[in-house]
Amino acid sequence: MKHTKIVATIGPASETKEMLTMLARSGMNVARLNFSHGSYEWHKGVIARIREVGEELGMPIGILADMQGPRIRIANGQALSLPKGQKVRVSDVAYAEGLPKTMEETILLDTRQITDALAVGDEILIDDRAVILKVVEKNDQSVVAETIRDGIVTPRKGVNLPDSRLGLPILSDKDKSDLAFVLGEGVDFVGLSFVGTAEDIKDAKAEMHRVLGEKHRLPQIVAKIERKEAVKNLDKILKVTDAVMVARGDLGIEMPETEVAILQKEIIRKSLMAVKPVIVATQMMKSMVENATPTRAEVSDVTNAVIDHCDAVMLSEETAQGKYPAETVATMKDIIERTEESPLDDVYGAMAINVETSYAVIIRSAYELAKSFEAKAVVLLSMSGLTARLMSHFRPELPILVATNSRETYRQLALVWGVVPYLFEKSHEFALFDDWVIEKAKEAKLLAVKDQIVVFLGKVPGEDAARLVGIREIK
Ligand code: PEP
Repeated sequence: MKHTKIVATIGPASETKEMLTMLARSGMNVARLNFSHGSYEWHKGVIARIREVGEELGMPIGILADMQGPRIRIANGQALSLPKGQKVRVSDVAYAEGLPKTMEETILLDTRQITDALAVGDEILIDDRAVILKVVEKNDQSVVAETIRDGIVTPRKGVNLPDSRLGLPILSDKDKSDLAFVLGEGVDFVGLSFVGTAEDIKDAKAEMHRVLGEKHRLPQIVAKIERKEAVKNLDKILKVTDAVMVARGDLGIEMPETEVAILQKEIIRKSLMAVKPVIVATQMMKSMVENATPTRAEVSDVTNAVIDHCDAVMLSEETAQGKYPAETVATMKDIIERTEESPLDDVYGAMAINVETSYAVIIRSAYELAKSFEAKAVVLLSMSGLTARLMSHFRPELPILVATNSRETYRQLALVWGVVPYLFEKSHEFALFDDWVIEKAKEAKLLAVKDQIVVFLGKVPGEDAARLVGIREIK
């Protein structure tokens, strides 16, 4: 059984029920829908099919709806060729009409009044750094920037402004309508692109409550760490987000590519301490878009993310558009399992926890107990998912078998390292949850007769602070 989970992006290569079933059987735990593409009709069909596959296979498959976010794009209608050292005016669609005709070349950005955020010395990065400009002069309604190397600015390409405090709302008008749609569909996670501050997460949660009502349980927010500002504000973001994604694509544009691997390690470490699930994303198995086997460097990348003890590794175009979606997931699963078997994967003792509650201390004791006599599994009850996440934080190298009475928790735990969730709907029989989980685990060959396990009974609904830890032998 693998502990590290797999998130796979769904696209034209994986949209059919047959392929979704193959992905789930091959190791996909969470399906990601990228709202930069696809109609509502398409997304609705895929969501329904993922739910059907989960029911048929009797496994939780989380659905992550990834919002496009406030992406800035080039608004020029024509391509613009810029030699190194050329000065060019940069403005945006709000000011386009009123600009004086003093310069031949103007680059227009599609976000109104974004020019106001630019200052002398700021970088303007276009099309994944294919074009790099530096602002050398600030004027009213425009700036003058100099090109750092030869490049061509093409219509609709993405723009990153890593040095500027953008102050853009975290949800664009398109995101708000996409969000209302995915909330209606009951997705399990919402990915927020271009998060800069903790306020962005709070704003998104407020919008979700506005749509669903104050009391409604929200999908979990996955804050995509891809902006320089988000790296700076990570500690505060971790306090309010539910999960994070190391979105290495844009992160490697806003920050030097050569720093991304180190940033990944730092983001994972901080997320683990904050007990927030963390996903490593982008280009993990990219060559498998075209080829049936990965490069050795890609194998090494996945191995290292597993050794860093992230919760999940993610596939993007590999499963959305690639030629080998199921093979890619299966290969990723194979790398994960081989890595987790290796003694090099054991980092016990390296992680502190910054959730200093007595409850966390009790869970740590249950974990220590399981470690001390080589238990085969930890079995626990978790309603909101917190108990399961706390246990997972310690990364016990054994299955964490979790009964929950909440369908939302059942699917959200699909993302969490080492957790095997079971939906336990017999609320009147909570006291028997471990018997029930043990039977399920025996059927799945995760447990066998004579195995010793640790049972942790967190807080049973209706009973006050019943917190029991015990050892059981499987009969
Ligand atoms: C990324 O930038 O790495 C990422 C995951 O975001 P997206 O695929 O939405 O660009």
